[in-house]
Amino acid sequence: MASAENVPTPEKPTKAHAAPPAERTARPPVDASALEHRNLRGGEFWREIPAFANVSEEEFLDYKWQMKNSLYGEDKLLELMDGLAPKAFVDDVLRGFHLAPMAVRVTPYLFSLIDWNDPLHDPIRTQFIPVASRLTMDHPMLTLDSLHEQADAPVAGLTHRYHDKALFLPLDTCPVYCRFCTRSYAIGVDTDVVEKVSLKVSPKRWEEAFAYIESRPELEDIVISGGDAYNLAFKHIEAIGMRLLAIPHIRRIRFATKGLAVMPMKILSDERWLDAVTRVAEHGRKVHKQVCIHTHFNNPNEITEISRRATNTLFERGITVRNQTVLQRGVNDSQETMRLLVKRLGEVNVEAYYVYQHDMVQGVEDLRTSLQTNLDIEKFVRGSTAGFNTPTFVVDAPGGGGKREAHSYEHYDRETGVSVYSAPSVKPGQLFTYFDPLHSLSDAARADWKDADKREQMVQDALLAARNHQGQR
Ligand SMILES: *Cc1c(COP(=O)(O)O)cnc(C)c1O
Ligand code: SF4
Repeated sequence: MASAENVPTPEKPTKAHAAPPAERTARPPVDASALEHRNLRGGEFWREIPAFANVSEEEFLDYKWQMKNSLYGEDKLLELMDGLAPKAFVDDVLRGFHLAPMAVRVTPYLFSLIDWNDPLHDPIRTQFIPVASRLTMDHPMLTLDSLHEQADAPVAGLTHRYHDKALFLPLDTCPVYCRFCTRSYAIGVDTDVVEKVSLKVSPKRWEEAFAYIESRPELEDIVISGGDAYNLAFKHIEAIGMRLLAIPHIRRIRFATKGLAVMPMKILSDERWLDAVTRVAEHGRKVHKQVCIHTHFNNPNEITEISRRATNTLFERGITVRNQTVLQRGVNDSQETMRLLVKRLGEVNVEAYYVYQHDMVQGVEDLRTSLQTNLDIEKFVRGSTAGFNTPTFVVDAPGGGGKREAHSYEHYDRETGVSVYSAPSVKPGQLFTYFDPLHSLSDAARADWKDADKREQMVQDALLAARNHQGQR
């Protein structure tokens, strides 16, 4: 495993940096905490989990072992938490299980990164394992496919919302299931509370998507998502990648996978998959088209020395990796945590691309933050590192407006929590509303949202204010 030797130490001042003239202010020495992003977790940390105490490094770094031991189903989870988590917490998880819209699936790697001394507040636990005590009422304006991905889909599993780019969903499974998934309408198995739309691996369905892409000369950019491209067989990675690169007007493709964040072992041990991605990327370079990986780290604790080995491997193969983060309460909604995440992504050569305001998703209201939190964090993070490693903070406007820069609202009423966006190049003339979670509002505003008439009035007032604001320009 990579060790501290790989961690660059800050340069010591030499004679060449002579004492500054009196009129220049001396920069105070750097505090160790400011270099925390270089301090990645290494060693055999998984052995602290009783069930993994005898797992060797070789085994732990084998993606097949990680997949085989990915935990789903409450029996397995209970078994692992036995002797590790307090009884009250385990009961809380059991109740959470039956109330959640997503099935639970988490890798041994992630499970080992959870701080089991305080699982309730752990950012990784928060993302993957629901607890009943934290669940709160959904906002009354919330719907299951809040982004209208299905309404903007000309063929099943292809969303064409923006002019020159489309989102292709070749499958509906993932190596883990995230509680906050925007696509909980499709991803994973049916749960007690949601029956899913089906998007199975199907080369026949894919061909319909490719035919549509061929018929639309304006399309230049395809996101291959899912589900998760990690779960595509290597031959499907190559078939889809090469098929898309062969379409003359396609200039850019990206494989979207959370895998790098939840199971970096695949990059280190699934040679056929890695080689398939590499061949697509190399072919892309030959025909002057971009092939990238987009991944999904949300908290600095998810970036370890194992992640570094995986991102180094991709870097050596010339594959650009970008990151999309979802802003989540208790996971990364503090300024310091987000700055640390952004700096740590830079440390492992991953470009921080987006931070998304949490979508309006059923059953995870506890994870949403107000828009104001997003705006404040953005202000804090910008300026802390290279501009190209600084993410754009966006709101994916409910109703199909697409991603909007968070500060670009037409109107934001901090009392009712209603923000209004427009998207002139996506849906000209329309306005889109986003709603802060009820837990971020005052008691009075919360009471108003319970009243159907007042609810309608609050929305209409916000839309009117937005139109007036637009009219003034
Ligand atoms: C996010 C997204 C894309 C890609 O958008 P970028 O801003 O280029 O990352 C394409 N289509 C849909 C439907 C999307 O949600
Ligand atoms: S990996 Fe992505 S698509 Fe899969 S459950 Fe998580 S957020 Fe959803």
